[in-house]
Amino acid sequence: MDLIEYEKLIQSEEAARSYLLGFCWKEGRRFCPRCGQHPVYVLSDRRLRCGGCRYTFHDFTARWLNLGGLSCRDWLRLVKLFELELTALKMCGQLRLAYNTIYKAVTAVRFALLAQAIDAPQLLSGPYGERLGFAKGRLRMERASGEQEVIPVFGLMDKGGWIFADFLPHIEAADVIHFHRNFQLPLERMGQLVYTDRYQRYDALIFCGDAHLPYGLIQKSSRKPYVDSLKGGFWNFARPRLKRFNGVTSRRFPLYLKELEFRYNHKSEDIFPILVRHLCSLVPKSE
Ligand SMILES: [Zn+2]
Repeated sequence: MDLIEYEKLIQSEEAARSYLLGFCWKEGRRFCPRCGQHPVYVLSDRRLRCGGCRYTFHDFTARWLNLGGLSCRDWLRLVKLFELELTALKMCGQLRLAYNTIYKAVTAVRFALLAQAIDAPQLLSGPYGERLGFAKGRLRMERASGEQEVIPVFGLMDKGGWIFADFLPHIEAADVIHFHRNFQLPLERMGQLVYTDRYQRYDALIFCGDAHLPYGLIQKSSRKPYVDSLKGGFWNFARPRLKRFNGVTSRRFPLYLKELEFRYNHKSEDIFPILVRHLCSLVPKSE
């Protein structure tokens, strides 16, 4: 999307809204987000009602962008700044919105990206979803008390210029440290982030732990992890960005990793419309 096209979109709330609606309804065909049926009737105030189950909703109901509470223009501005990799704090200078509002909206964009991944159903449900702050189709920005300490471990695989950051539900962070201690798997630390040498079919295992992990057990290996020996590739792309994200928490790490997977795999594309498409997609229903 060039700048002139983008400026046209944000010229008015109506133009921004109609751009977003184009991603919500294929050929303008509305359906009920609850039962999937149509016809859908238009009520006053742009509300809609399902002819099947009588559910009353609006165009953005049950979509990721509905979790943010921004105007349509502000959504597009925010997506543009996200495309340019501005942090939420830097966005504050350009969008006249409170930091918390921006941070929540950016988090919704990240969730929308994660939700497109093949392993999303596992990451968004059960204890992993709860720890990430996603339950019953809603985002929870604060940590809940009594949250389980399940630290997801990912396997990185670079295949012909594509990166796969696979969630590995059968491996726990403590297992990775065990592999290191007992089977000499080289580990490297970057704050609370830990990555390994090659493991089975993966170029590296990676996770971001918290204070509960016995980091003291990690010893300097004489061998560098495989990904550090590569020139170019995903890790060279991701490493400085993870540093720049500055204070990636263990809790939110899967969102950042999936964002980087998305950016890397679309690095030669115009990601603005792709980001908007994901943002306008339906939030998966979980238990
Ligand atoms: Zn319905």
